[in-house]
Amino acid sequence: MANSGLYWFNHDLRVHDNPALLEAYLNCDKLICLFVIDEAWFKQTGLNAKPMGEHRHQFLLQSLSDLNKQLSERGQKLVVMKGEPVDIISTIVKYHQIDAIYRSQHVGVYENRQWHHLQADFPRVHFHSVWSHTLFRPEQLPFGMTHLPESFSQFRVAVESVNIDPPCAMPKHFPLPITSTNGLPSVSLKPAISTSKYVGGEMGALMHLDDYFSSQLPANYKNVRNELDGWKNSTKFSAWLASGNISPRKLFQRLKEFERKNTANESTYWIYFELLWREYFQWYANRFQQKLFQPQGVSTKKISCCFYPERYKKWCNGNTPHPLINACMKQLNETGYMSNRGRQIVASYFVNELQLDWRFGAAYFEQQLIDYDVASNWGNWQYIAGVGPDPRGGRHFNIDKQMQQYDPNQAFIKRWDGAVTAVNLDSVDAADWPIMPKSK
Ligand SMILES: Cc1cc2nc3c(=O)[nH]c(=O)nc-3n(C[C@H](O)[C@H](O)[C@H](O)COP(=O)(O)OP(=O)(O)OC[C@H]3O[C@@H](n4cnc5c(N)ncnc54)[C@H](O)[C@@H]3O)c2cc1C
Repeated sequence: MANSGLYWFNHDLRVHDNPALLEAYLNCDKLICLFVIDEAWFKQTGLNAKPMGEHRHQFLLQSLSDLNKQLSERGQKLVVMKGEPVDIISTIVKYHQIDAIYRSQHVGVYENRQWHHLQADFPRVHFHSVWSHTLFRPEQLPFGMTHLPESFSQFRVAVESVNIDPPCAMPKHFPLPITSTNGLPSVSLKPAISTSKYVGGEMGALMHLDDYFSSQLPANYKNVRNELDGWKNSTKFSAWLASGNISPRKLFQRLKEFERKNTANESTYWIYFELLWREYFQWYANRFQQKLFQPQGVSTKKISCCFYPERYKKWCNGNTPHPLINACMKQLNETGYMSNRGRQIVASYFVNELQLDWRFGAAYFEQQLIDYDVASNWGNWQYIAGVGPDPRGGRHFNIDKQMQQYDPNQAFIKRWDGAVTAVNLDSVDAADWPIMPKSK
């Protein structure tokens, strides 16, 4: 038995269906439950945005506060620290002579780099990493990672017959808490307050699970999922799934229960279908690692595009010559959420009409989205930009047609104040760039 353990929470902010946490519970007699707020999340990157904006930051603080409550009810406590994760964990491991470190495995390149760094620094410590951010375990997939199907359709056909495990048991009591942090300051957690329907935390997620599946909404999902607005028009599980407040297996279990007790129709199947999209992008990110962030993605295509700061800024602020784009971007900026249809439309506009480097759009989404998930975000952007797993080589939406179809009365545009104030995309014209005769 390992005496002292460290559980490193990351994108798994829950106690239910958390097999790595269960392992820590079974194997340790003292445990520190840790979350590190990485200071790098709030610094601007080379792609002009911060990895974490205000909406997700608030959601994260709510999730941490709730996790602390869940742990406290089981005799534990969440220690939250701010700084560089490897430095902080190294200090704690040395000070408390930690024998084993546990975490839920995630596809994030940075998270894995930090994990490998710690493994190299502490060869005597046992490292346990367990998948729980996905429906399937890697061993269940009917192909090796290097043979991941090249398209979503092939993936879906390959995995649809694979059984999905039920959620794992939940520890009732935890090992004794280690709370001292060797003088390193910890962050105090405040109870969650929210004016939004998205309240971060496992309790909020489970309440939404109950609400959603005790209604008849799942039976009508496919008919309304493309609406641009409206809490009830899609499941709204994405933010809770991304931060691991709910496990995909728990969600899947509830979906199957709904099908047994109510109805199993095209709509309920389609919720599963969308969860498979999420699943595909998780394994895609796991397969392609750093390529997820490269301009040419997984293609061999050379993308030629310039960068127009003014166009980029207008897109971010919802101040383009297109009212639908403006409304979608304002909705995103104000709430941290945008419908799937909206995301496809603004991403296509960014790549095709604005001719901007797709990575800057993906990075802005990363900053703004409350449900940001590295695999879903960068994978979907690659797909639309034509450098990802799309057999059709990218998507180019006709924005006027989309507007006629999804906002025929301009109700969405009015609600989010999409009115056009900047008629021109570029304010620089030929007069500002005089072509000088060549000097002889
Ligand atoms: C450019 C772009 C960027 C995106 N970035 C993210 C992101 O950072 N995080 C994120 O969770 N989703 C992302 N998506 C996918 C999708 O837009 C959201 O998951 C969805 O809008 C969330 O709302 P919902 O939970 O009501 O979804 P629903 O329509 O109810 O779908 C149910 C669940 O299926 C999954 N899902 C649905 N569509 C997709 C998809 N296309 N790709 C992957 N998973 C999907 C989500 O987990 C979602 O919660 C992105 C899509 C695009 C086009």
